[in-house]
Amino acid sequence: MTMRLILLGPPGAGKGTQAERLVAAHGIPQLSTGDMLRAAVAAGTETGKKAKAVMDAGELVSDAIVNAIVAERIDQPDCAKGFILDGYPRTLVQADAVEDMLESRGMALDAVIELVVDDKALVGRIVKRAEEAAAAGKPVRKDDNPHVFDERLREYYKKTAPLTGYYYAKRMLTTVDGMAPIDHVTSQINAVLNGKA
Ligand code: AMP
Repeated sequence: MTMRLILLGPPGAGKGTQAERLVAAHGIPQLSTGDMLRAAVAAGTETGKKAKAVMDAGELVSDAIVNAIVAERIDQPDCAKGFILDGYPRTLVQADAVEDMLESRGMALDAVIELVVDDKALVGRIVKRAEEAAAAGKPVRKDDNPHVFDERLREYYKKTAPLTGYYYAKRMLTTVDGMAPIDHVTSQINAVLNGKA
């Protein structure tokens, strides 16, 4: 059985946390374009050089760059049984691109799940994530601060929020209460996935 899933939601909604749990439960990889871009920045690749300033400012990296990263990634053998797209697609152009990518490989999406979260809670979650990373001696993301967060949220509403309508119209969207405790959010997502299995 394959499982190809998109997790939608604003920054701080809990997509990464839930994706990590789904990896453990379903044995399919998490494809986080944010993680892939941060790795490219750290490695100093051409893509990383182009993306760095844009990411630090909280804006979106170009569709061409992220589409190319994802197209290459889904051809890796560990994606054969499916994957969780976390933070991608983030624009309508990317949504069309992923559809073409999958169709040309004879694949299809199984579910698009939106984590619905109260906007007022988001900045607090981002600040907490930065504090926890620092306390654990892990690197703190340069964009996890209230100032850059505002731009990330603006980008989300301008460019990413329309995707919920796009997938709703395709009858693919399921919404989940992202304000619930983490375990409860996971159970809600698993219930959706079990319904698709
Ligand atoms: P994230 O880790 O998903 O919050 O992503 C961190 C940053 O990476 C974003 O603020 C963007 O600058 C960039 N990024 C990640 N995914 C995408 C995407 N699908 N499209 C454009 N930019 C992205």
